[in-house]
Amino acid sequence: MEEIRTRFAPSPTGYMHIGNLRTALYSYLFAKRNNGKFILRIEDTDQKRFVEGATEVIYSTLKTAKLIHDEGPDIGGAFGPYVQTERMAIYREYANILVEKGFAYYCFCDKDESDEISEENAFSGYPRTCRNLSKEEVEANLKANKPFVIRQKMPLDGTTTFHDEIYGDITVENASLDDQILIKSDGLPTYNFANVVDDHLMNITHILRGKEYISSTPKYQLLYEAFGWQPPKTAHLSTIMGQNEDGTISKLSKRHGAVSFEKLVGDGYLPMAILNYIALLGWSPRQEREIFSLEELTEIFDLEGIVKTNAIFDYKKLAWMNGEYIKMLPQEEFASVSYKHAENLPAFIKEKWAYVSTLLQSRVSVLSEVEDKLKFLYNYGNFDLNLLINKKNKTTLESGAECIEKAIEYLDNLKSWTVENINDSITNYATKIEKKIGYVMWPLRIAVTGEVVTPGGCGEMMYILGKTETLSRLKTTLERIRLI
Ligand code: GLU
Repeated sequence: MEEIRTRFAPSPTGYMHIGNLRTALYSYLFAKRNNGKFILRIEDTDQKRFVEGATEVIYSTLKTAKLIHDEGPDIGGAFGPYVQTERMAIYREYANILVEKGFAYYCFCDKDESDEISEENAFSGYPRTCRNLSKEEVEANLKANKPFVIRQKMPLDGTTTFHDEIYGDITVENASLDDQILIKSDGLPTYNFANVVDDHLMNITHILRGKEYISSTPKYQLLYEAFGWQPPKTAHLSTIMGQNEDGTISKLSKRHGAVSFEKLVGDGYLPMAILNYIALLGWSPRQEREIFSLEELTEIFDLEGIVKTNAIFDYKKLAWMNGEYIKMLPQEEFASVSYKHAENLPAFIKEKWAYVSTLLQSRVSVLSEVEDKLKFLYNYGNFDLNLLINKKNKTTLESGAECIEKAIEYLDNLKSWTVENINDSITNYATKIEKKIGYVMWPLRIAVTGEVVTPGGCGEMMYILGKTETLSRLKTTLERIRLI
């Protein structure tokens, strides 16, 4: 059986849009599921969009996402070079073949000067002026060094049909197809030409890419036919949408939130959680489960599960999934990845991070939340003393004051400030006065934190604050109660 070969062909734009990453993921999964090869090709022929360091972003994203390619610019392979600007001679050679065969022609028309940016579209609706120049005219123009482009000669009648694995047969009228540019005036190929030549020469069997390429695919089909090549199979993927504030939806963009992989990772989403989430954004595993490792996805991914309807990127759902992945992390790894988001916290918290992080692991869904979750520890102030009164624990201001007064004494005597020792001494006191533990713990915890909900109990909070700060906060609270 023929080896399955897929490719990821990003343009180096400087960031990895989540839609591009999904294309990479599906291409990777499909290849791996079928024991095939996943190829990385850099499509950098649009020099106007050149961004310094952008190729490194592609490498590092794929590495972080563990989408390891089998061939590519950095590791080589039998079908290189894998960077389009290093393949210039190849495109010229193949463009010449098309000219000779009568499927392409030289065009010497002036380009629309004002339209520098979209050179590929500048001639849309091109009136085909140069389509029938005689051989002599062409040669004379070339001799005179007239600038030229090479255009595809579209059939003027009939239809072109291609089969898409997701959308089925798609047919267009040839008369609607422009004589698109294949080689630009600077000698560089257009994306529309280069991708066909490369996919063929790199033996690509399946192309997975965004739905926005459907309208160009008949033109590619005609190029394959002109060369006499078997076109790869295509699977076009739905568009990722975002929900707008007014409830409408539109293509996912920055106004919806972070849209690049790097930004999401920077915001505290784990790479595998992002991958898992986007795996399900346009593909259905057809089972209730939602959490899948990359290995598991590799075992079950198939084109049949790809859905046609546009998916909506749901940041809440992603956060939920991220929380599930955070819970699954080994404790030490969580300590290390969450520390990056603890930068702005005061030293007394950071010093105990190995411990503090254990309290947070089950309580955050996005790593960037760690700071917020601990703010109360250093934003401590004149909290509402009524918080000390709690029905369930049968506490009053008076009982609270008494417990705090006693705690100042026995906690001060503690030799070693550990969570265990703190809790033991509080528990001993509760036993001594024959009260439930909450009767003592409630006012003490409120006194030192000013918060009803804290990521851990009384002993934990006091341990993080340290002995001096704990005693000082207990004293301040006691004084405040007495002033009432
Ligand atoms: N270079 C194109 C892009 O970044 C790739 C499209 C394709 O997969 O063929 O959008």
